[in-house]
Amino acid sequence: MPRSVILQVAVPAPLFSLFDYLPPVGCDPEMLCVGARVRVPFGNTERCGLILALRKGSEQDVDKLKKAIELLESGPLMQPGDLELLRWAADYYQHPIGEVVAGALPVRLRRCLPQARTAHAGWRLTSSGRRVDPDSLKRAPRQVQLLGLLGKSPGGLSRDEVFLRVGECRQVVRTLEKKGWLETCELQGESNSAPQSTRSAPLELNEHQARAVAAVTDRLEQFGVFLMEGVTGSGKTEVYLHLVNRVLARGRQVLVLVPEIGLTPQLMERFKRRLGGAPVALLHSSLSEKGRELAWQSARSGEAGVVLGTRSAVFSPLPDLGLVIVDEEHDLSLKQQEGFRYSARDLAVVRAQRCGCPVVLGSATPSLESLRNALEARYRHLRLPQRAGSAVIPTLGLLDIRSVRLEAGVSPTLMRMTEEQLAAGNQVLIFLNRRGYAPLLTCFDCGWVAQCRRCDARMTLHLSSRLLWCHHCGSQRPLDSKCPDCGQGSLKPLGQGTERLQESLQKRFPETGIVRIDRDSTRRKGSLEQLLSDIRKGRYSLLLGTQMLSKGHHFPGVTLVGILDVDQGLYGADYRAAERMAQQIIQVAGRAGRAEKPGRVVIQTRHPDHPLLQTLLKNGYSAFARESLVERREAGLPPYSHQVLIRAEAHRIEDPVSFLEEGAGLARAVMGPGVEIWGPVPAPMERRAGRFRAHLLVQGESRPGIQALLARWLPELRRLKSSRRVRWSVDVDPQEML
Ligand code: ADP
Ligand code: ZN
Ligand code: ZN
Repeated sequence: MPRSVILQVAVPAPLFSLFDYLPPVGCDPEMLCVGARVRVPFGNTERCGLILALRKGSEQDVDKLKKAIELLESGPLMQPGDLELLRWAADYYQHPIGEVVAGALPVRLRRCLPQARTAHAGWRLTSSGRRVDPDSLKRAPRQVQLLGLLGKSPGGLSRDEVFLRVGECRQVVRTLEKKGWLETCELQGESNSAPQSTRSAPLELNEHQARAVAAVTDRLEQFGVFLMEGVTGSGKTEVYLHLVNRVLARGRQVLVLVPEIGLTPQLMERFKRRLGGAPVALLHSSLSEKGRELAWQSARSGEAGVVLGTRSAVFSPLPDLGLVIVDEEHDLSLKQQEGFRYSARDLAVVRAQRCGCPVVLGSATPSLESLRNALEARYRHLRLPQRAGSAVIPTLGLLDIRSVRLEAGVSPTLMRMTEEQLAAGNQVLIFLNRRGYAPLLTCFDCGWVAQCRRCDARMTLHLSSRLLWCHHCGSQRPLDSKCPDCGQGSLKPLGQGTERLQESLQKRFPETGIVRIDRDSTRRKGSLEQLLSDIRKGRYSLLLGTQMLSKGHHFPGVTLVGILDVDQGLYGADYRAAERMAQQIIQVAGRAGRAEKPGRVVIQTRHPDHPLLQTLLKNGYSAFARESLVERREAGLPPYSHQVLIRAEAHRIEDPVSFLEEGAGLARAVMGPGVEIWGPVPAPMERRAGRFRAHLLVQGESRPGIQALLARWLPELRRLKSSRRVRWSVDVDPQEML
């Protein structure tokens, strides 16, 4: 029997290896290729896997290998470069490769379904076709003609359209195909050749913007990381648009990553309008499955010049990637917090490095990680220190609320300032990062407090829906009218949530249109967009909300921003609390005074002398961040060290700790110098959703040192008997210690 090829397949399963299969019966070996899907037997079921390698032999007994059932593609679905990134990420973040690969595919393609069929066949240029110099083809005018025509339609043209424009030309098409300059493609819906009408003109860049654009443009052909630190409203998006246009003009693709909440219809519109005819593919979670798949396919075919998406778009197939942009690179939503816990920002850098193109990280409040890299010249630091146009940076001030009687959480001074601005016809934004009516419900007679039965946490009162709601596990129960403990006392809400703030302010300003933006008020699809557009139309004068209000939006009419509660951030349990607080303050503050009217920002605090607050206010975010970096270095914390958090949880309180203790023992036996193990300790909220939780922290000076430990240690951990009594996970470069 001739030695058969072995397929190494990534099968979606919580296992850390590839699986070897023999080719399907009757399958032409020529058709087998890396990057194609195969249906394979797996246990008692069948799964849809992706071929990651073809080998001549197997480490296992070849006679015992199972045969794959069916090859699902006639060509690769993903290119080797894209697959290598997935393998790298699975390795680095210690997540099963099959799940990582499946997660990178559109939902339908994760099952064994065929790729979505599309309207009609057409032709388009390949990337080498786009680079052909017409002067080199002087003797083949028909070829030049066809290249020219298709060159103007990056998305391809239908056959009918081509024949209509240049006449019958099958022979020419075949010649160009043989040279690798032209390929068949499938066109989505209507033909893409319609001229774009509403292209808006680029703005003239100011000096700082122009310098940033030039710095990146000078190095488009090589890997390099640029940290663009630009104050809110300084025109970062404008810089991105200019760069995108340059890269598109070279026939390359651009990947733009934005945080969850930053991907507003406004941003999409701005991109589409400014990029004229270049197709923009959007990849985000609220798309339909079909819509996602089509966008993914247009990225994969090269038809989409720009892929604009949230976190998971970092894995989209991009054959011609020429630039990566990560907007709001400090944003927590760029890190996936469950399952495959990857950082889209960090992977964006890895991806750019692998394909030899630049990556631009933009933020008004860069992460300490990126800032350190910039200060140590590993990243190039671009700065936009001023607001674009005529707008000026708002002034920040502290409001000492010690021994001040608050009204609905608002001090009399802030109330008066609000009144003044409203009377002058301006908009006011009040920021409170706590949704619901009140964070606490208590009985004044017996002291009972509404606790979640499944978490070490209090229930939040949501009065409009008459519910007690745990924000940690999601459990809800109806509101009692009498105390469930003593049966006597009436229940009183304590503290402020956005719902209560809205109620009190509406009483105080009965004539004023007040809008609340938080997860509850925007639950319905499209409602956030509607509310934002109403705000811009001036339908509301008083804007209340959580961090949903703080990101990316433009509210030109806002002249006063009040931040009600920052003190949590000053003394939070997490060492990153202060950094997050500072970012939040600056981001919220950035909503004010974005047009001609100057803005003011007032921060209520009971710790007005806190050194971090003082630095932030007097000298700005950069100074704050530099001071924080000094503290981190002295404490040996990230970014001056690297961490991995092993979390474990179980119904019995002793199981997580004993598993982690056993694990810590194993680690100590194999770890090299420069790595430390802390814990195990109970999680800050020990019980959540009925499970007890604990964690173990691994900290080390170097990434390779930690990675070497993980590679040896985790397989042993997986084999531990005690590991079966817990649910546990690995978080490499954790962003939250919860
Ligand atoms: P950022 O992304 O830094 O918040 P944007 O790119 O959204 O900033 O720009 C903020 C505002 O300034 C927008 O209204 C934009 O149209 C305007 N703007 C940006 N660059 C310029 C420029 N060079 N000249 C005039 N206005 C500009
Ligand atoms: Zn009571
Ligand atoms: Zn709970």
